[in-house]
Amino acid sequence: MPIRMTAKHTNILKTFLNGSMRLAEFAITNECIAKCTFCDIWKQRPRQYVDREKGLQAIDKLADFGVAHITLTGGEPLLHPNIIDFAKKCNSRNIHTAVLDAAPSLITEPILDGLDEAKTDMLSISFDSDDPKVCEASRRIPDILNGIEDAVKRIKRTKIKSMASILIWNDNHDRMEKVFMKAIDMGFDHISVNYPTFSKSVLYPLGGEGISLNKPGVIKALQSVIEIKKMKKYPIVNSIASMENIIQYLTDPATVRYECLGGNRVMFVDWFLDVRPCMQLPQVLGNILTMTKDDFATEPCNRCNMSWYRDFSTFFHGVKSFPVYLESATSSRSLY
Ligand code: SF4
Repeated sequence: MPIRMTAKHTNILKTFLNGSMRLAEFAITNECIAKCTFCDIWKQRPRQYVDREKGLQAIDKLADFGVAHITLTGGEPLLHPNIIDFAKKCNSRNIHTAVLDAAPSLITEPILDGLDEAKTDMLSISFDSDDPKVCEASRRIPDILNGIEDAVKRIKRTKIKSMASILIWNDNHDRMEKVFMKAIDMGFDHISVNYPTFSKSVLYPLGGEGISLNKPGVIKALQSVIEIKKMKKYPIVNSIASMENIIQYLTDPATVRYECLGGNRVMFVDWFLDVRPCMQLPQVLGNILTMTKDDFATEPCNRCNMSWYRDFSTFFHGVKSFPVYLESATSSRSLY
């Protein structure tokens, strides 16, 4: 089926061709009601929320810097009282927008209507296992699997696409296809795979017992995802080229084809509006409201395997990115 070009697609194409394209994760609050075993952000105090006016200015500034995709994240972005205003601002600047969610009870009907009206492109829901008890334990939210299933069904009445955001972890690493199958049975439109990452970041600590897989275990899981993707049965958004790159990184970091462009093409904007290469590194490049293009990082990085940053970085390596473009051209699922 031919892809209908929207103003957002045109913006992506235009910024890509003129070399200004960037992508940002914008963390609008550190509050979260899930208590995930892989992430400690829910313990943070004080609670921080991006101020509405400054958040809107920040999105304008990001658009001026060529940002064509924003992932609104947190904490839990749906807890921010101005989430719909931020989503509307993204739409007004033709920014392709995804909103992350870990607690499906927050996808209420008014929130869904607001995001739909704001022309949000994607709701990406954390999904850990096909086993309800495991899901409950990993997020510490009672009956979460039924909650996700209900939310995905309700998203279908809107134009928003749903995506299962699946972390490779101790529970699922040796049976990824079963988890993908469950996601599709539940009605998800897309699947994204997250690579397990540890971060000692003060801002955004990640890790925990649940992702104590060793490197060979992660590599094996990624190899299985690549094989499953080749079957073309599941709408997995991660490119094979990027997953192979992560396997290279885990095998011998010096041999990667695509280094990470965190702080240059991809970036993390925190709830203080400070721009960082990612949530891992302590370095602040500047405050989004005052920084200039000269403040962006100039050196690539190869210090971790974080999926969002590594996957999107593969698009910006000139002729080396050809395999990624080729995959994207044969799939309508390249941007998430
Ligand atoms: S490689 Fe990891 S640490 Fe380095 S910029 Fe990318 S996401 Fe951050």
